[in-house]
Amino acid sequence: MNAEAKPLPFPQRQYAGTSVLRERGQREVFCGLTGIVWLHRKFQDAFFLIVGSRTCAHLMQSAAGVMIFAEPRFGTAILTDRDLSGMADPNDELDRVCATILERRPEISTLFLVGSCPSEVIKLDLSRAAIRLTERYSPQVRVLSYSGSGIETTFTQGEDNALNALVPWMPDTDERQLIVVGCVADIVEGQLRSCFERLGIGPVHFLPGASARQLPGVGPNTQLLAAQPFNGTTIRALCARGAHLITAPYPFGAEGTTAWLAAAATEWDVSTERFASVTQPLAARARLALAKHKTLLAGKRVFFMPDSQLEIPLARFLKREMGMELVEIGTPYLDRKMVSSELPLLPPDVVISEGQHVEKQLDRVRAAQPDLTVCGLGLANPLEGEGLATKWSIELVFTPVHGYEQAADLAELFARPLVRRSRLNV
Ligand code: SF4
Repeated sequence: MNAEAKPLPFPQRQYAGTSVLRERGQREVFCGLTGIVWLHRKFQDAFFLIVGSRTCAHLMQSAAGVMIFAEPRFGTAILTDRDLSGMADPNDELDRVCATILERRPEISTLFLVGSCPSEVIKLDLSRAAIRLTERYSPQVRVLSYSGSGIETTFTQGEDNALNALVPWMPDTDERQLIVVGCVADIVEGQLRSCFERLGIGPVHFLPGASARQLPGVGPNTQLLAAQPFNGTTIRALCARGAHLITAPYPFGAEGTTAWLAAAATEWDVSTERFASVTQPLAARARLALAKHKTLLAGKRVFFMPDSQLEIPLARFLKREMGMELVEIGTPYLDRKMVSSELPLLPPDVVISEGQHVEKQLDRVRAAQPDLTVCGLGLANPLEGEGLATKWSIELVFTPVHGYEQAADLAELFARPLVRRSRLNV
């Protein structure tokens, strides 16, 4: 630490909470293809080619419906019956489709081949196809592959798998730097960059940034700060290249954002005075904006079904800053490394469940009659039909919710269904 530096808030503690309820059974989540919806908007120079069925194409058209009016940076190479039955070699067709895309879209410098359930079932080796196509189109175009299939645990793993595919292409560096890992909206990236700059932390890179081609370096002096809790595979791959993970709560709400920035500030020996002068006005404004939603949310009981892996940080925000009661926090996969700073901030007796047996979990929802259930689209309508207020969890991934400026927007996402239901009940 430098001479004027003093300890910053939020020391790390060990989680001493209750055990985790593990369930295995039918799951109700989207597949990893969904991540393309936000990743293709982030990367300006990449194209996502799904190698899948008509079902996969329909999912993407529904999930990113408005984009069909523009020329989107994603598409589907549809596997036909002849491919699926082994009568034709899908690689020939794949090569032809890639050639057409790259001819039409000369601005594309990275082409992702995205695996699906059908491509995995017929054991189509997209990693070999990517090597073959990279040899053909290098140096103008790099072809990478990853899995977006529904065989994975949950839909946010699509982002993790895509970012993980980029790690081998990141050059070595010894530069002292910070990489923020996890997709955030451009507006959020700008705000966070401004905070880091005023704190004297840098250079700062974001993964993903605007380019899938111009990647930051990585090495022993690289510090990682996770913006999303679901990128554990990417974080581990970066750590294997020598980088270090700064463990921190996630930047949701005023408290979470302060703790997240404080963790980086500690690494960069930022003084307490400087940290306070940058963050206190922003945190105060965020708390003020949160107050009107707290009036509505405090004391209300919330149940998280497992969906996005954002559940634990969001539950912490709703409990500590909004005063909500946590009935159950379901998460599709509990990556303890990625939430090690979140777990100690939860009440010690909180119920955390990992995985899903949807029927058993729905029984618990019905028995508990929570004021709000956070769940996937497929469960929301039936629960609404039973008189329960719901929040679509996928909105929490699509909407800018990180940082001080978005704290009230995040709270409003949870408040809106309660307001709507109270109006319907009048
Ligand atoms: S990848 Fe699998 S789960 Fe996803 S749309 Fe295609 S078939 Fe369905």
